[in-house]
Amino acid sequence: MSPRDITVGQPLLELRGLTAAYRGLRALHGVDLDVARGEIVAVFGANGAGKSTLLRAVAGQMPIGGSIVFDGTSLARVPAFRINRMGVVLVPEGRRLFPRLSVEDNLRLGAYARRGPDRLRPLELVFSLFPRLKERLPQRANTLSGGEQQMLAIGRALMTNPRLLMLDEPSQGIMPRLVDDILAAVLHIRAAGVTVLIVEQRLDETLEIADRAYVLQTGRVVMHGDAREIAADVEVRRAYLGM
Ligand code: ATP
Repeated sequence: MSPRDITVGQPLLELRGLTAAYRGLRALHGVDLDVARGEIVAVFGANGAGKSTLLRAVAGQMPIGGSIVFDGTSLARVPAFRINRMGVVLVPEGRRLFPRLSVEDNLRLGAYARRGPDRLRPLELVFSLFPRLKERLPQRANTLSGGEQQMLAIGRALMTNPRLLMLDEPSQGIMPRLVDDILAAVLHIRAAGVTVLIVEQRLDETLEIADRAYVLQTGRVVMHGDAREIAADVEVRRAYLGM
C-alpha cells in the first residue's frame, strides 16, 4: 500500500500565528501550520529558519505567542512534561540519550511515566522496526553507531506511546544507507497509528514519505503544499531551498 492510500483524518495539531523568541530575538514570526491525524508532514528550510524552534515550541520547551492546539486542547501554558504525557513527543537533534545506560534501560526509561501491564508493549514495534536494537540490548548507548543511536532515540520516543511524533533531523550524522532505513521506519510508525511531524535536510527522500510539506524562511512559512507537488516544483526548490 502506498503511504498516501491511508485516509487522513481530523486536525490533530493546529498552529496559528505562532511566535517564539530567544531573549527578545524572534525566531518564529506568526507560523500557521496544520497536521491531520495520520499524516506525515515535513518542514524544510535553510539553517536558522526556525525549524527546531517550531518543534521545541510545540513540545512546550519555550514560551510562545499565538496558539497551539493539539487534539482540540490548547497547549499554551501547559508544561512540557504534561504535553509529553498527552502524546506529543520530540526526538531532538543530537538525540539526548542516556549515554552510559544500556539500550534496554534507555528504552525502559521511555516508558517510565506509563502504568499498567501494557507499559512495555511498544517494544514489539520498536524491535520490528529496528532489529539491531534487540541484538544490542545490553550495549551502552554511547557505543552505538550514529544510526543506531538515532534508532534508539526514536525507539525511546515510541515507548511513550506517542500520538504525535516530532523528529528533528533524524538523518543528521548518519550513513546514507541508514537514512533510508530510518525514513522507511517513519512510514511504519505512521502505519502503526502515529502522526509524524518531521524536520529534515534530505529533501528528496523526505518528500517521498511525506504527505505534505512546509517551507520556513527566517521564521515564516513561505510555502506549503502537497509533497509530490513540491517535489516536482523546480522553481520552489531553487527559490526557497537552494537546490
Ligand atoms: P538548523 O537547520 O541549523 O538546525 P533551524 O531551522 O532548526 O536551523 P533554529 O535552530 O530553530 O533553526 O533557529 C532559529 C533562530 O533562532 C536562529 O536565528 C538561531 O540562531 C536562533 N536560536 C536557536 N536556538 C537558540 C538559542 N538557544 N539561543 C538563542 N538563539 C537561538
